[in-house]
Amino acid sequence: MKILSVNAGSSSLKFQMYEMPEEKVLISGVFERIGINGSCYTIKLNGEKVSKDAILNSHKDAVKILVEELIANNIIADLNEIKGIGHRIVQGADKFESSVVINDEVLKTISDLSSLAPLHNPAAVIGIEAFKEMIPNAVAVAVFDTSFHQTMEEETYLYALPYEWYTDYQVRKYGAHGTSHKYVANRLSDILNKKDSKVIVCHLGNGGSITAVKNGKCVDTSMGFTPNAGLVMGTRCGDIDASIIPYMMQKTNMTPQDIDNVINKKSGLLGISGVSSDSRDVENGIKEGNKRCLLAEKIFVRRVVDYIAKYYVLLNGVDAIAFTAGIGENSITIRKQIIEKLSILGVELDEERNNVRGKEQLITADNSKIACYVIPTDEEVMIARDTYSFIEG
Ligand code: AMP
Repeated sequence: MKILSVNAGSSSLKFQMYEMPEEKVLISGVFERIGINGSCYTIKLNGEKVSKDAILNSHKDAVKILVEELIANNIIADLNEIKGIGHRIVQGADKFESSVVINDEVLKTISDLSSLAPLHNPAAVIGIEAFKEMIPNAVAVAVFDTSFHQTMEEETYLYALPYEWYTDYQVRKYGAHGTSHKYVANRLSDILNKKDSKVIVCHLGNGGSITAVKNGKCVDTSMGFTPNAGLVMGTRCGDIDASIIPYMMQKTNMTPQDIDNVINKKSGLLGISGVSSDSRDVENGIKEGNKRCLLAEKIFVRRVVDYIAKYYVLLNGVDAIAFTAGIGENSITIRKQIIEKLSILGVELDEERNNVRGKEQLITADNSKIACYVIPTDEEVMIARDTYSFIEG
């Protein structure tokens, strides 16, 4: 059965088509600069990448070309072969505890939640509508980044703010990256072959978050009301003293939009290093003796370690820690620094095992009290699995 996994952004649309239940990727690609000059798309098929220019005035244009490419490349002969389309949705708030089949009411709720994810939910709605129009017979499923975190208890997800901010304005911790955390936590408990496992998943990419998972359920996560909480990220500040915001607004006459831009787009690794939001550039800066790059990496590492320590206590000990996403999967040096700072917990790195990029591997020594793994994430396959499960009942 053919299932499409879709991630629609405001000007982009990523897709991956699977043969299910084998989970075989048949074709994947990305449409970029939708509605902007210079739009184009890239298709990956049989290990080869082909990029083409195209006029993409809307997401509908992208879906139309996608269907043409699927037919031209003999992936499908007929549109009805696509039985399901899974859509990644960033914000489901407390409305969705799991993935759902999209009907008019679900679509309206996703749209109504736009104020909590102004860049992402409106784009997802556009994507859903474009696919519905072009491929009406496929079952459309919404897979939420937030639903994995819905198992957090009230005492975990509430902020110490006036309670009415929660009841009247929905201000609480929702978390993000849930599909990735769920995939990696599941994979980790398969590896551990233990049902009642206690694990910590570190999703360290351009955005970063850490989740404490007990028996497959999220207990706590570092992202909050928005993705700008917890860790130091590429351009986001993560946890800060909230009073810095009104202080700097008064000092510099910044508007709410201005300061939002600074804390989301000009902070994190970029803000501290002054060089780049990309950890590879920061690592190169360190090699060249750039002190602010070194400081940025130190602050990044320290924050990850702080959260691991906090979740170690919360979970009353952990069986394993996983590193995933761009930095977690690829940065040998950042993983090394994090793990070395955990030595008080009996964690012992194996440098040779840690010399790995983008591949599942144990990276700690056999006598380490906590096993640490690199586990490449796969959000797309989780979306395809959830979509398939609705069709196969
Ligand atoms: P993501 O958001 O998961 O795509 O991750 C992006 C981050 O991963 C960026 O900070 C990249 O610098 C980092 N990254 C990707 N590949 C590598 C690599 N080979 N070595 C170090 N960092 C990497």
